[in-house]
Amino acid sequence: MRRHTPAAALAGGVEGPDQLRYFTEVVLDAAADGACERGGPLPQGGPEAVAARVREVWPNALPEHGTGAVEALRTLVGAVARGAADPADPHCVAHLHCPPLAVAAAADLAAAALNPSMDSWDQAPAATVVEQDVTAALAGLVYPRAARPDALVTSGGTESNLVALLLARERARAAGAASLQVVCGANAHHSVHRAAWTLGLPAPVTVGCAGGRMDPAALERTLAGYGRATPVLVVATAGTTDQGAIDPLPELVDVAARHGAELHVDAAYGGMLLFSEAHARRLSGLDAAVSVTLDLHKLGWQPVAAGVLAVADADVLERLALTTDYLNADDDTEAGLPDLLGRSIRTTRRPDVLKIAVTLRALGRTGVGELVDRCVDGAEEFAQQVDQHPRLRLHPGGVGISTVLFRPVAADELAGREGDACVADVRRKLLADGRAVLGRARAQDEDGDDRLWLKATLLNPQTTPADLAALLKLVADTAAAPHTTQYSVGDDR
Ligand SMILES: *Cc1c(COP(=O)(O)O)cnc(C)c1O
Repeated sequence: MRRHTPAAALAGGVEGPDQLRYFTEVVLDAAADGACERGGPLPQGGPEAVAARVREVWPNALPEHGTGAVEALRTLVGAVARGAADPADPHCVAHLHCPPLAVAAAADLAAAALNPSMDSWDQAPAATVVEQDVTAALAGLVYPRAARPDALVTSGGTESNLVALLLARERARAAGAASLQVVCGANAHHSVHRAAWTLGLPAPVTVGCAGGRMDPAALERTLAGYGRATPVLVVATAGTTDQGAIDPLPELVDVAARHGAELHVDAAYGGMLLFSEAHARRLSGLDAAVSVTLDLHKLGWQPVAAGVLAVADADVLERLALTTDYLNADDDTEAGLPDLLGRSIRTTRRPDVLKIAVTLRALGRTGVGELVDRCVDGAEEFAQQVDQHPRLRLHPGGVGISTVLFRPVAADELAGREGDACVADVRRKLLADGRAVLGRARAQDEDGDDRLWLKATLLNPQTTPADLAALLKLVADTAAAPHTTQYSVGDDR
């Protein structure tokens, strides 16, 4: 034990790992203690109580004199772990917020300690090779029939969608067009709209949906309104954030092709189905897209960040090329140093690919696919339990990948807005009590009316049917208790 490891010790070199080993033990102890003290998926008491508990042990973010590494790690890691929303808890199911695999988190520690930066070969010699081979493998999984597929590592779906729109805009400009029109479903992720805004493109035109999926007939009508002189990028979604709905890709591919439009698929959530024997076929048509967004920090169990943008043809990435003397001078490149700068819109960039590479090697394609299957099966089980529950009602659309929408029957018995308020209140009550983290989503009901639903996004492959039954009991009991529309603070667990 190196009790006197100085706070300014370095993580790298020959000595670094030993220093880090001791700090890592402190960190892991604090994380375990914090999780134990929390005793549930979320800290109790709501935002004010959480803030008070953090500031009680950490009153000053910039002290004049330091407390030393061990004290600082214990205090802050302990406070953040105690106050964490823990996706490894089976009752933490609100978002596409996955429980990271321990093997991936361990690999990420090496990424932090070795600190390769992916903007030039002389900062990341071996990590460059790892990135080249992982991106090639993932590109091949998305585009099994393409001659020269490629992929970039991104910070997530938002950046992947931004780069996809940027590349489409540049292709349109190269073809002499003044701009690019993005057409997406009403179900598209907000990052598509934000990307158009960031890039100075006209606001995306949205196409109507049926059952949460883009309607091919509505897309046909929209595209018929554009002449060939206006380049159009259709953005479809494979796994919507709210419902896990997969747009009808084969039909959309046909419609887009008939009108000479390009297609990008935002498969941030659903793309990981490609790993599954049982479910990959749900993405048929995906490889007709010019580009595909994939997120491994959702249904891929990676610590944030782990995004990918795959492209059918490596040539489309050439527009990102950029030379700057200090990173990739022409004579360096000619002398054989790999040029990495054009592999991102960022400059300094973490080797997020390392944890992905380790995960793929440790589990293999089938091992990852089995984790996907377990989450999909868990969602089917959950939906069945909801359906059989006398006090809960399943959304008529059923399961979307691993997402289930449902409502307390008590909410259905109230008029429109009051019913929605009841749903929102049940969610907030569970958050305040720290007992369950459920999401919320607006979606059409059988009668065509928009209603608010509770959302469970099941990304934890270890969750058991008994965990799910306990979660439903919590929801049903909370809905049965008298409710307020205030953010109520629970005092019992
Ligand atoms: C999560 C998500 C995004 C955004 O991805 P980030 O990784 O959060 O940037 C984009 N599209 C869809 C469909 C998503 O679910």
